[in-house]
Amino acid sequence: MELFELVTASTIPDAVKAQARSSTAQNGANVRFIAGGTNLIDCMKLNVERPKELVDINGLPLDRIEKTADGGLKIGALARNADVAQDATVRAQYAVLSQALLSGASPQLRNMATTGGNLLQKTRCVYYRDIATGCNKREPGSGCSAIGGYNRMLAILGTSEHCIATNPSDQNVALMALDAVVHIEGVKGERTVPIEEFYLVPGSTPQLENILQPGDLVAHVTLPKMPAGAKSVYLKLRDRASYEFALASAAIVMKQNSGRIDFIRVAMGGVGTKPWRSVEAEKMLLGKPATASNFAAAAEGALHGAKPQSQNGFKVELAKRCLVHAMGQASQSA
Ligand SMILES: Cc1cc2nc3c(=O)[nH]c(=O)nc-3n(C[C@H](O)[C@H](O)[C@H](O)COP(=O)(O)OP(=O)(O)OC[C@H]3O[C@@H](n4cnc5c(N)ncnc54)[C@H](O)[C@@H]3O)c2cc1C
Ligand code: SF4
Repeated sequence: MELFELVTASTIPDAVKAQARSSTAQNGANVRFIAGGTNLIDCMKLNVERPKELVDINGLPLDRIEKTADGGLKIGALARNADVAQDATVRAQYAVLSQALLSGASPQLRNMATTGGNLLQKTRCVYYRDIATGCNKREPGSGCSAIGGYNRMLAILGTSEHCIATNPSDQNVALMALDAVVHIEGVKGERTVPIEEFYLVPGSTPQLENILQPGDLVAHVTLPKMPAGAKSVYLKLRDRASYEFALASAAIVMKQNSGRIDFIRVAMGGVGTKPWRSVEAEKMLLGKPATASNFAAAAEGALHGAKPQSQNGFKVELAKRCLVHAMGQASQSA
């Protein structure tokens, strides 16, 4: 780990101003916000992240979880993953988010990890975390060691010839299925971005992972009101029952009316270079009865463009089965 300066932000404008001094908000940033530190400090110990300055945002008033006037929910960027998972409204109305959070990391980590930090956690690609190897995301132009290397955990959707890293988050898959909106405080004031537009696929610039610019502070996320009667499920498949990242996961929000699906959101984790929403699967299910054969057809559609690598071809079938099972659970509870 390299030496760095630690500054404490006491107001949101101070935090924005401090991080705006960074050359980038993406990989290679020389000023970083620090929230729970559970991802950033790991990366700094490995010299994958080498910020000269850390801006501690833990004193900012961004840790509340509160209902919005239009029946939705506002979750502060500093709300801890454990607190969000246990929140009564989240458990009752946004169960998919509670389930996703509880499936991630460990109780100790969830007590520290924040909503904003989870949104921005780095890939677990082993080469990204090993500075002795080539990695276009960490060091543009140095190659992708995972293509043809150890890629069992990596993505099959949204990949490019430059990067196949998976977005590792569970929370973000649930937020995708819930149509979350990210609220950002930046040098030009506040703006909002639907989570669907927040992440970038790697293309030829895998070092750019999201739409954040220098100074951009995630302040909170909002969730719209769920349609009355909608039910949601998060299913995570992994190598061991706890304390492990997803090989494949599914976040489903479903509502039925008179035996037909009249609201559906489908998102996947563990398989995409970003939390992956499948509009194809949603279109195939809307207006149809909630049957196993319709779920299977929608899962085929969701994985249609999958491009497996040398070690992760099994994820195509695994992700389909994960989707079908999660859809079945959501339909039974709906
Ligand atoms: C052993 C282990 C197992 C794990 N298992 C899982 C798992 O199964 N599933 C899962 O989803 N996650 C898992 N995680 C990841 C964990 O969820 C993240 O480390 C955590 O959510 C990051 O939150 P944080 O507040 O600690 O972020 P930090 O480490 O403080 O920050 C992470 C990044 O976010 C930026 N940042 C933080 N807050 C803001 C903000 N408000 N605005 C702008 N930028 C910000 C920081 O600058 C940094 O770049 C695991 C982590 C570990 C160490
Ligand atoms: S998959 Fe992406 S993160 Fe992993 S080595 Fe290749 S470029 Fe780096």
